[in-house]
Amino acid sequence: MNSDARLKDRQRVATTCPYCGVGCGVTATVEGDGRVTIAGDPAHPANRGRLCSKGTALAETLDLDDRLLYPEIAGRRAPWDAALDAVASGFARILREDGPNAVAFYCSGQLLTEDYYVANKLMKGFIGAANIDTNSRLCMSSTVAGHKRAFGADVVPGCYEDLDEAHLVLVVGSNAAWCHPVLYQRIADAKRARHNLRVVVIDPRRTPTCDLADLHLPLAPGSDAVLFNGLLTHLAARGFLDTEFTETSTTGLEDALAAARAAAPDIATTAAKCGVPEVAVAQLYHWFATTERVVTLFSQGINQSSSGTDKVNAIVNCHLATGRIGRPGMGPFSLTGQPNAMGGREVGGLANTLAAHMDFGDDTCDRLQRFWGAPAIARAPGLKAVDLFQAVGDGRIRAVWIMATNPAVSLPDAFAAHRALQRCELVVLSDCVRRTDTADCADVLLPAATWGEKDGTVTNSERRISRQRPFLPPPGEARPDWWIITQVAHRMGFSESFPYAGPGDIFREHAALSGFENGGTRAFDIGGLAALDDAGYDALAPVQWPVPEGRREGTPRLFADRRFATADRRARFVAITPRPPMRRTTARHPLVLNTGRIRDQWHTMTRTGSAPRLTGHTAEPYVEIHPVDAASRGLTDGALARLTGPQGEMLARVHLETGQRPGSVFAPIHWSGPFAACGCVNDLVAPYTDPISGEPESKHAPVEVVPYRPAWHAFLLSRERIAVTGLGYWVSVRGHHFWRYELAGVAEPDDWSTWAARLMGGAGEWLEYHDPAAGRYRAARIAGDRLVACLFAAPAHDLPTRAWLARLFAHDRLDFRDRASLLAARPPRAEGDAGPTVCSCFGVGRNTLLAAIRRHRLASPEQVGDALKAGSNCGSCVPELAALIQEAAGTSAA
Ligand code: SF4
Repeated sequence: MNSDARLKDRQRVATTCPYCGVGCGVTATVEGDGRVTIAGDPAHPANRGRLCSKGTALAETLDLDDRLLYPEIAGRRAPWDAALDAVASGFARILREDGPNAVAFYCSGQLLTEDYYVANKLMKGFIGAANIDTNSRLCMSSTVAGHKRAFGADVVPGCYEDLDEAHLVLVVGSNAAWCHPVLYQRIADAKRARHNLRVVVIDPRRTPTCDLADLHLPLAPGSDAVLFNGLLTHLAARGFLDTEFTETSTTGLEDALAAARAAAPDIATTAAKCGVPEVAVAQLYHWFATTERVVTLFSQGINQSSSGTDKVNAIVNCHLATGRIGRPGMGPFSLTGQPNAMGGREVGGLANTLAAHMDFGDDTCDRLQRFWGAPAIARAPGLKAVDLFQAVGDGRIRAVWIMATNPAVSLPDAFAAHRALQRCELVVLSDCVRRTDTADCADVLLPAATWGEKDGTVTNSERRISRQRPFLPPPGEARPDWWIITQVAHRMGFSESFPYAGPGDIFREHAALSGFENGGTRAFDIGGLAALDDAGYDALAPVQWPVPEGRREGTPRLFADRRFATADRRARFVAITPRPPMRRTTARHPLVLNTGRIRDQWHTMTRTGSAPRLTGHTAEPYVEIHPVDAASRGLTDGALARLTGPQGEMLARVHLETGQRPGSVFAPIHWSGPFAACGCVNDLVAPYTDPISGEPESKHAPVEVVPYRPAWHAFLLSRERIAVTGLGYWVSVRGHHFWRYELAGVAEPDDWSTWAARLMGGAGEWLEYHDPAAGRYRAARIAGDRLVACLFAAPAHDLPTRAWLARLFAHDRLDFRDRASLLAARPPRAEGDAGPTVCSCFGVGRNTLLAAIRRHRLASPEQVGDALKAGSNCGSCVPELAALIQEAAGTSAA
């Protein structure tokens, strides 16, 4: 059956969310009129039907705005044959001239495992170099390195059910409430159901995740390894080691203990080094010591550090010391950032690993060469992401093929990465979107299929392999990544080794390789799936590896038999001597910048930035700063600020936040060139990396934050997308029926009317108000009684709220009251202003919520949900509802 016929028959498709590593199951229903309805898949074990705000909004991301629909060469549309020839011949020429180390691939956790597999095979087995790395390097490679040191393989020992069964959950360096919301909700459910579950959050800032916390340790940035060394010291001193386990199943305890005692000899010293109260450290240690079922969840706050690998091992050491691994309700648990970071790890998507979780070595390279029949197997690790782009910058790498990612903004020292790509001789980009900072640098653009069109598998944080299934045909000339890579391989002379007719063929080969000469020596083994036929592959139910030959069912937990993947089958303690971050604060840059995700956006917003319901929560890049730090710098809430660091600078809106640790600030990672001027946080992050994992230190950049004082502030709402140029500050986001622009300029336009007409178009009816003395200007353009665009400008940022104006774009005609309110810059009295969106699912604003909480004395998020529906779907906003209830109580009390 061809794929078109299959799509026609299948109205309801079970697939997987393309965002975070929770890996939620999604059902997509294609209606008769082509509309797509998205829901959580109740049958998927990762989420049991629940989705977060991003997953819930997936249907809004399916339109073709900004899609890359046709191949391009040097900015011009080209036939596929010409584009593929250009890539193959360009790579072949540079290979001939400079050898395999002069070319590179840079992949992404957005790729499906089958895409990743063929990219890795082409580079490491046929081009003959290992210069293939991935954006997963930037988020979880420290965990990979830590797992390998401790367990002998990159294995997450546990599963999500462990969260249901734990009695103590530590959440370390993770704002799970926003970054892994469905897992966070699972913990919240468990906590509601069982009063014997405690949650401890270990994070320098008080994040929404702390809403669940029985204890929050706002430790000093970079001091995690000291805290866990202190815990190891404490466990040994108080007799809480599982000596039977450590003696029979581990090695290296004494050295690890000696290092731990040297760094953190007692609670008082540990607390002082971590900058937290002694009593809080003592409480954490007591709970850990006396609770058998402990899960330690950790994420980018641990990984993205120049000592990230050591931090991972400091955590794992404590679980090994107490034997709390491989059993229900316990274990160290890494939350992966991306939907298929794990799949990329399985196929060797990292430059320092081989396919099927093998490491470089004569025997493994020989094995791979025999399996693939490869002519030129790579025999040494290649360049990791940061080094790879430095090599692009200095010309050692002359050709780079980037797949499904945007390194010109997502790498540390992004400006340098962007410049390196501009200078590179041959930049190829396979992607689904046309407008990205990286696309601006590409010589050849290859239109890739995206979520909803792609067919293959992904692996989530708990080793669960799930199918991503297509429910839409690829638009224009978009093609699957595996097909694009395979076609280039054919043109480079490797047709026989890349004979795939579909992703099922690739999956079978990948599964067979995992079992090839394995004999139980490699934990990653899905040999039991190698014989799936196409129908079996199509129907593959979510399954956790390993699935060795002779089995079809998966393995929820590893190491239950206390046998690890090392040569002697014992786990390794690693002696940890904590190191401070590479770059210290200085008098010039005295604050520590922490970077991360926000609730409703994903990576560089290429998908979530087009979903109106996701843009109402946070419309601009912001810097979260403690009020004391803000006051000493003349920064006020809602004003603009300039962040400066040794690498570069960015502009952001000031958010005062008492939960921010004094001396630290936070800014989100999402804004890039198409969405903002000067909003790229990675321009501030230095390319310092962990020496073992190569992961950059994205959580610790010294900066200063100073007021940015433009001559005027404005916002513009427009039905049409417009091009903003020549302003120091602008941000654009998409709303329902309009685009929203936040603007600021260093000099007032000579003539506001002319300037506004240039931005908003001149035709139609105009309403205008100008008070030159006060520096206020308002304009609205109306065509056929419909509001086309409106602009509000003032000397400060005290502008009308946007939520009320946004609603006018949903109307087909403006009435007299609407027109009057436009000129008066305030909503009609009867209508009120909902305020910024808090609940994205039901579009409920902050003002509406606060008013209802006060009026009806709502005392819990559940009561708010009953009254206004807010928080009753995905639950992502529940921590914010709890904060609003507290705020209202505080106000009432006052
Ligand atoms: Fe997608 Fe949200 Fe689930 Fe993550 S938690 S996989 S973003 S629905």
